[in-house]
Amino acid sequence: MSSAIINGKEIGQEIRKEVAVRVDALKQQGVTPGLAVILVGDNPASKTYVANKQKSCEAIGMFSELIKLPEDTTQESLLEQIRDLNTREDIHGILVQLPLPKQIDEDAVIATISPEKDVDGFSPISVGKMMLGQETYLPCTPFGVMKLLEHAGIDVAGKHAVIVGRSHIVGKPMGQLLLQKDATVTYTHSKTKDLVSFTKQADIIIAAIGKAKFITEEHVKPGAVVIDVGINRDENNKLCGDVDFAAVDGIASHITPVPGGVGPMTITMLLENTVLSAERKLEQDKAVKNL
Ligand code: NDP
Repeated sequence: MSSAIINGKEIGQEIRKEVAVRVDALKQQGVTPGLAVILVGDNPASKTYVANKQKSCEAIGMFSELIKLPEDTTQESLLEQIRDLNTREDIHGILVQLPLPKQIDEDAVIATISPEKDVDGFSPISVGKMMLGQETYLPCTPFGVMKLLEHAGIDVAGKHAVIVGRSHIVGKPMGQLLLQKDATVTYTHSKTKDLVSFTKQADIIIAAIGKAKFITEEHVKPGAVVIDVGINRDENNKLCGDVDFAAVDGIASHITPVPGGVGPMTITMLLENTVLSAERKLEQDKAVKNL
């Protein structure tokens, strides 16, 4: 029997409809949620990602502004742009598309984004608050994975989740969010010895590696849930994940496809975070008026 597919495209669309209703409610109160996206240089993949983000914002009635800067932009002029956006009333979320050119210190750039507008959830303050379970913006990809699991009716409490990959934007925060929902979490990475011995124990495998079809039938316990975060090209230049879908299909109880799994959820959660930021700002403004 085939594994059940967790359809991120459908779940993402469902969530976007709910977010669109919240956008309308904000507009009725005079606020249009706004996302600023900064793109430095001409990286073709980054251009595509940015265009998708803008299109998705507009589709649900949000405002989006693209700030394009040349490849040789200095760090100071980029920081200046961010400081300006931090103060703008019409901008509720700021996103700097990564990677950035070599002359720019990514950490300094991310740390300059106001925590109130850090809808990517990458800044040290956002990460710290996430670790402490405080109100913040959750990083979009792991947040999207949590929503996928929830919508698929998978209760993670007490389950053993094995994360393959420990990047700041996917693997590490993914483990934290699962831990907060009472999963038992194991992190694995490129220095892990005998990876199979870990993944084979997993009730939930999260593959965030960046290597085409790396997770095969030998890694997966029958009945495990397999979430594939990877976006790669296979030998025929076809889009594929970190999981060998055909090999794992029928062994896993549930699996996310690539494309159409985690990918659509990342942008969905960016929209959700931006709308949440606009809602929080409106509440704060109302509270100040009532003082
Ligand atoms: P990184 O390259 O930053 O991290 C990859 C991780 O995989 C590292 O922690 C690395 O270990 C680990 N790794 C590499 N080789 C092995 C191995 N042989 N065994 C075990 N672990 C290994 O990638 P990202 O986290 O940014 O992205 C991962 C994948 O997810 C990529 O394909 C990316 O395109 C995709 N992605 C998809 C998104 C979406 O929206 N669907 C969003 C973001 C990313 P070590 O730390 O030891 O080097």
